[in-house]
Amino acid sequence: MAQKNPLQRQSKSCNLQRPLGVTTQKKRGEKPKLERKAKMALLNTAAGNTKILKSQKGTDFRIASLSLYPDDKICPAAILAGCKAPCLVSAGRGAMGTVAQGRKNKTAFWHRDKDLFLETLEKEMRNFIKLCNKQGKRAAFRLNTISDIPWERYGLPDLFPEALLYDYTKSAARLGKTPENYRLMFSYSQETKYQKQVARALETDCPIAVVFRGFVPEGSYFMGREIIDGDKSDLINLEKGQGKIIGLKLKGGKATQQSQSRFIVEPWQATNCPAQMQNDCNPHDLATAGRGFAVAAE
Ligand code: SF4
Repeated sequence: MAQKNPLQRQSKSCNLQRPLGVTTQKKRGEKPKLERKAKMALLNTAAGNTKILKSQKGTDFRIASLSLYPDDKICPAAILAGCKAPCLVSAGRGAMGTVAQGRKNKTAFWHRDKDLFLETLEKEMRNFIKLCNKQGKRAAFRLNTISDIPWERYGLPDLFPEALLYDYTKSAARLGKTPENYRLMFSYSQETKYQKQVARALETDCPIAVVFRGFVPEGSYFMGREIIDGDKSDLINLEKGQGKIIGLKLKGGKATQQSQSRFIVEPWQATNCPAQMQNDCNPHDLATAGRGFAVAAE
């Protein structure tokens, strides 16, 4: 199948949607201003993240990812979901400071100059797609590894229709609103204030990711949906997770493991029956059902 040329699309959609922020016009006699360049690379194209590496292994995809550092602006639902504290621990874990600092620098860059950030990101994405084409691979991007930015609003999926973009999100309003090549999975929290988002996500058949402490109760049910093991591959989760719970084992050190964040679900909260919602079945009903069974068996 013929590949679409991303450069052609760029001139149509992206430039019209927002200015790139590069000054090229000059008055007569005035020296042209130098094109602004970012001082840092944004994408990790070496699959340095274990989950990314696992996800692309054995597939015809190569995945590039972008890791920022969570804050209230790039994670607008984090306060509602109560996920920020455990997330910050894992975001800051990398290399005891240097990786975390790199993520903070990129986040500061995003807040300071979105136009230049996007211009840099687009260039890196284009180069990565070219590299993948040369290697006979398909390009995939996970741009919200540790953030929740609505990239669809900045035209990125439209700009690169030949690539797959995917992310986890805590914003249910984004579900079903992204282009075909930008696939989202909803990320659960049992925080009370967040339950409207959860209810909205349950109205869709979007995969719902749930973090379990200790182990993933695969094959059991949560919120009436079957739990599958989501730790194998994000790409499998996208494909097989429709209408399911993507069970993820809580990662991280002692502090994270002991966290009481309501972002974390205990395995005993899963149930054996899709109709049973978090152990709220009435024992009387069970007894009645058992009696019926006994009668039927007679
Ligand atoms: S879990 Fe997601 S939304 Fe919450 S703080 Fe981390 S990256 Fe942001």
